[in-house]
Amino acid sequence: MKGGVVKSIGWEQVCERTRAIVDRYPKGTAFYGIPRGGAIIAAILLGMGANVVQKPEEADVIVDDIYDSGATTERYRKYCKPFAYIIDKRREHRNAWISFPWEDEVQKDAEDHVARLIQSLGEDISRDGLVDTPKRYVKFLREFLAPPEFNMTTFENEGTDEMVLVSGIDFESLCEHHIAPFIGKGAIGYLPNKKLVGISKMPRTLEMFSRRLQNQERITEQVADYLVEKLEPYWVGVHLAAQHTCMTMRGVRKPGAMTSTTAFRGPMKDDLVLRGEFFNRLKEG
Ligand code: ZN
Repeated sequence: MKGGVVKSIGWEQVCERTRAIVDRYPKGTAFYGIPRGGAIIAAILLGMGANVVQKPEEADVIVDDIYDSGATTERYRKYCKPFAYIIDKRREHRNAWISFPWEDEVQKDAEDHVARLIQSLGEDISRDGLVDTPKRYVKFLREFLAPPEFNMTTFENEGTDEMVLVSGIDFESLCEHHIAPFIGKGAIGYLPNKKLVGISKMPRTLEMFSRRLQNQERITEQVADYLVEKLEPYWVGVHLAAQHTCMTMRGVRKPGAMTSTTAFRGPMKDDLVLRGEFFNRLKEG
């Protein structure tokens, strides 16, 4: 994936590293494994006599097989628990595609399901154009759902007291209800406090949250929350406008219908002057 090398991790290494997790924490530590990879690690932990729980809120430590794009970790951050990984790509194998021993099976499984799905639509799966489609489709989804990593490096604000706005950011996502694409443009603005961030990080941030199975409202809010967390600004505004193919290709079939969403955050979130300026500058853009 991403043109990188494939690095195969064997069972022996998986067990060795799982043992290292057990050794790192005091006896009785409650572990929760994130499905699917983390759940396999949890099963091995259980076999090693560790305490494994069924819900993340009951855990002391959340385990996963890999830290890759950080997207999975991001979803479990709300539990405010430490994480443990078998492979942490921030530290090793940065550009490799990691293949765990159970994944060949998982991949094959997924391809079989897609083939069945295509057959259930009355298509002949053996015809030329379709024969490799299950493989391609699974690969396509996996690649799309693994956005590139980036560092949200901030620097000191040396006196900017006006809104910083980046607009016209293209984004693509998959709606979680239909796994159908929705495609649009985003604008992200903030009124800096002590920290600034390179403007190229705005598209990166939007990409990180949109390349998941999503809904538009959630992306808007996650981008705003992320900027609050990283920049602690006085004010953040996010605006997304998108065309949802699940709406234009089926159902109400309104080609051209745009869905727009906004999120405002920060101590000055309700400031009407800032909101006014945000929308005015969007119109100009
Ligand atoms: Zn949909």
